[in-house]
Amino acid sequence: MNPFTFEQAADASAAIRLANGAAAAKYLGGGTNLVDLMRETVEQPDMLIDVTHLPGDIERRDDGSLLVGAAVKNTALAAHPDVRSTFPLLTRAILAGASAQIRNMATIGGNILQRTRCRYFYDNAAHCNKRQQGAGCDAKEGFNRYHAILGASPACIATHPSDMCVALAALDAKVHLEGAADGPANQRILRLLDLHRLPGDRPDIETELQPNELITAIEIPPLAFARRSTYRKVRDRASYAFALVSVAAALDIDENGLVRDARLALGGVAHKPWRALKAEEALRGQLAGPESFRAAAEAELASAVGLRDNKFKIELAKRTIVAVLNELKGEGE
Ligand code: SF4
Repeated sequence: MNPFTFEQAADASAAIRLANGAAAAKYLGGGTNLVDLMRETVEQPDMLIDVTHLPGDIERRDDGSLLVGAAVKNTALAAHPDVRSTFPLLTRAILAGASAQIRNMATIGGNILQRTRCRYFYDNAAHCNKRQQGAGCDAKEGFNRYHAILGASPACIATHPSDMCVALAALDAKVHLEGAADGPANQRILRLLDLHRLPGDRPDIETELQPNELITAIEIPPLAFARRSTYRKVRDRASYAFALVSVAAALDIDENGLVRDARLALGGVAHKPWRALKAEEALRGQLAGPESFRAAAEAELASAVGLRDNKFKIELAKRTIVAVLNELKGEGE
């Protein structure tokens, strides 16, 4: 691990000022991913700025939305009564991630910005375009069971590891950001779906964040039919494993059995949380049932591309979508 200085910030402006005065600062939440990356020297900040004491809690607004401070711990968000009752897919997604110990440490802001678990990214002896631009990608011909089937590029086939972000993508959450100087003019709000990038030819650039821009909160808009929602994660072992495929879904069915609306997002399949807009479109107005669910899954996965070790994930993703939608349909019967 390289030498670094450690600072604590009392508020977002102070954190940003500190970051602007350093050559390569990093904001530190729970540290459950960043510290691992520092140990492997993949990340080499010269300053860590502890942002775990920044103000911010879980606030229920009058319109039914939730505003969640970036320093809120994963465990606290999953357990919050309003989340459990109105956004059950979010509670289930968070509880599907990591271990209880890690969820107790990890912050919401850090969860959003955690980096891929591609093994070649963590191995300094491997070729990795994400770690070193132009170095190549050993995963393409290597062990790629956990890699992307949607939105990948010749430069990178990594996946985003967060479960929580898949639920937030389905809920169309917004990310509150504070920028490189003080003042309201430097605050902005970005849809979570627009925060993470697909790899293209620059997999080393993973988000639309500006230098030293800080996530201060997430906002979850109201969505009445999210009371009928869930998250299912398919993985190689029952706990403490990343998703092969995961599905976050909410379903709104009218009195005639027709799909009035649906929200679907996939995890473990792409460089970013993957909102399944084609599947949602295919579902609207259709009779809720295995045929329309399968047709929606086919529509979403039509552009999927599999590699030697991960091509099974295309059919797995389709079946998981159908199973989750069948489960949600059954809840209303
Ligand atoms: Fe690096 Fe991406 Fe290739 Fe993994 S998939 S080795 S992160 S370039």
